[in-house]
Amino acid sequence: MKDIFYSPYQLTSRQSLNAKVQGAGRDGVLLMVRWNDGLVGFADLHPWAELGDQNLDEQLRILREGKLTALSHSSLWLARRDAEARFAERNLLPEKAELKNNALLSSVMDIDGDHLNALKLQGFDTIKLKLGRDLKQELHQLRHFQGTSFKLRLDFNNVLDENTYADFMASVPEGIRKQIEYVEDPFSYEAKSWSKVRHFAPLAIDQELSQVLHHSDPAFDVVILKPAKTDVAEAVHFAQKHNCKVAVTSYMDHPVGVIHAAAVAAELRHEYGDLVLQSGCLTHTAFAEDDFSKQIQTEGALIFPVVGDGVGFDDILEALPWQKLARL
Ligand code: MG
Repeated sequence: MKDIFYSPYQLTSRQSLNAKVQGAGRDGVLLMVRWNDGLVGFADLHPWAELGDQNLDEQLRILREGKLTALSHSSLWLARRDAEARFAERNLLPEKAELKNNALLSSVMDIDGDHLNALKLQGFDTIKLKLGRDLKQELHQLRHFQGTSFKLRLDFNNVLDENTYADFMASVPEGIRKQIEYVEDPFSYEAKSWSKVRHFAPLAIDQELSQVLHHSDPAFDVVILKPAKTDVAEAVHFAQKHNCKVAVTSYMDHPVGVIHAAAVAAELRHEYGDLVLQSGCLTHTAFAEDDFSKQIQTEGALIFPVVGDGVGFDDILEALPWQKLARL
């Protein structure tokens, strides 16, 4: 049995500062879980209803009823990891950070030579780009990578179709195409059509991962593993069985979620070596700085432990107002 407490928070998107539409605040809750054996651990619960998650009210209602969603199941698993590390007075992140993160550029307009040089000097060697809004312009901007040593991760969030994707990739100069480490979610997953375009660049599955985890012959090369919503053991087992690589990413969530994801990534890398690619956990900078994100120590592509045990943040977590949610 365990008692679950929650504390609501709001993250403020940095881009909302310039956006015409206000109200880009994102709601979530931190969970504090106290097990019967006395261990206490923390985790984040940050639904993206836009991506098909039950919204926050639903998540809390379902938890209150003693049932779990994919998200809350993961939160409880992560909270237990945190609890055990706290009990052992151990930080979940290794002191010597080794596994790098990609730099995340949400707009291709952020790409120019100076910016790329700065990223390189900071120690980034892999860049993730969100594409699919204006293919012509994006194709044009990709030229900045010609002759650089950056590896590229392109994420289309399933907004294209097979022909549009094939046309786009055929237009990418070969030199740049070779720099593409993988293309994530070019269009909605379908084994046959993904097979047809797989020769352009390795493919990675993210949003539809849970639907394909039981498929026998996947037409992709990389599994994007988000510990915030995917069963880690199941995804790793799948990747091993089907010869895929794994890239761990955070869920554009609270700093507590960011550190949990980074810790899972470091642990998997330690255990499985080259199966695990660079991570995508450096997402807290997409939001305005708060008491939590202030404590995240980074050096270029690396994330270091936050002071404290487990995921860290001991003092601010304890000082939060916690309300009882459920006893399961
Ligand atoms: Mg994605």
